[in-house]
Amino acid sequence: MQETLRARLTGELDALKEKHLYRRLRVVDGEQKAVCVIDGKEVINLSSNNYLGLDTHPYLKQKAEEAVRELGVGSGAVRTIIGTMQIHQELEERLAKFKHTEATLTFQSGFTANTGVLGSLMEDGDAIISDELNHASIIDGIRLSKAKRFIYRHSDMNHLEEQLKAAQGARTRLVVTDGVFSMDGDLAPLDKIVDLSERYGAMVFVDDAHASGVFGKDGRGTVDHFGLHGRVHVQVGTLSKAIGVLGGYVACSQALRELLIHKGRPFLFSTSHPPGVTAACIEAIDVLRTEPLLIERLWDNTRHFKDGLHRLGLNTGNSQSPITPVIAGSGEKATRLSNRLFEEGVFAQGIGYPTVPDDRSRVRTIVTATHTREDLDAALHAFEVVGQELDLVGAGQPAASAGA
Ligand SMILES: *Cc1c(COP(=O)(O)O)cnc(C)c1O
Repeated sequence: MQETLRARLTGELDALKEKHLYRRLRVVDGEQKAVCVIDGKEVINLSSNNYLGLDTHPYLKQKAEEAVRELGVGSGAVRTIIGTMQIHQELEERLAKFKHTEATLTFQSGFTANTGVLGSLMEDGDAIISDELNHASIIDGIRLSKAKRFIYRHSDMNHLEEQLKAAQGARTRLVVTDGVFSMDGDLAPLDKIVDLSERYGAMVFVDDAHASGVFGKDGRGTVDHFGLHGRVHVQVGTLSKAIGVLGGYVACSQALRELLIHKGRPFLFSTSHPPGVTAACIEAIDVLRTEPLLIERLWDNTRHFKDGLHRLGLNTGNSQSPITPVIAGSGEKATRLSNRLFEEGVFAQGIGYPTVPDDRSRVRTIVTATHTREDLDAALHAFEVVGQELDLVGAGQPAASAGA
């Protein structure tokens, strides 16, 4: 390696270490479950997006195995050449029925769905109006688009209205929001966003990555939760979180689907899902409908765990979802909280700058349907012990302004 590059990389890594932002990858030994072995230690896992435990569901595993046996392990091409198999079509038809939309188109991931749609749909002369806390893949999608950008303060409807006014001259205006914000667990006020957007003639795009399988009837997402069917033009969902597998999709009109087939760059230039992935996703949609207890249990566990954290007086921000942050303050303190919890048998990832502002550094907890009450109570006990050590217990303030 060239010496100057080596020095630069070492310098950057040293700087990360100094700011306590350097991370080692934690390694899971065996299946990724509510209690699992991480770095050789058995811990209660509070960091997974596997909300319903579908990643190890026996029906999904069986369908994936059958698909591998019948169809192989790869698709051999991008969707637009010869990588569209019947099973891909079947998934898209099932998803469209499930979401009550005209059509859906799947992508390799939620990330590529966002970059694919935003990068190709919105052009020079258009405007994208985006919440400041939207996911990195939305930000990258906006960067790939030549549309003009307007950023509004997090879930601030007055500021959104100002930006809608400022964008009035653009040809097509698209308001973009996460359905559930991934670092704070708060829900976008989608009903108000839709009302305002309609008033100003703008389209609405919601990224339901953390809402798919969690909010709405049978986990249909925030559009269903708020009763907004037919009023949101683009819904992005992920198949990688509660659905337990991998992938992203766009639920939209037939015309938008067809346009994305011609212009969505990850769709055009990156190979489609292997059959095993697609088969497991199809089965997941059935499981959402046939095992409603999973989502009920997710919400029961969510309430139980949130109540426990509140009783300890921890600062849990403004969450309305199974994601609950425990805000520690500085990045260093969040790292210590996460490390000490790990020693006490709980894995909750520390999150700091640049993902969240440094003074709102936190550990982020996510409960799932598959945690037992004993798991959650043991985790709460660990929070009590470590929270006292770090002077966080009893420090909770009334919910801070949404996700600030
Ligand atoms: C996780 C996430 C994504 C990316 O989804 P993947 O399927 O993991 O690529 C996109 N948007 C939001 C809001 C997310 O939380």
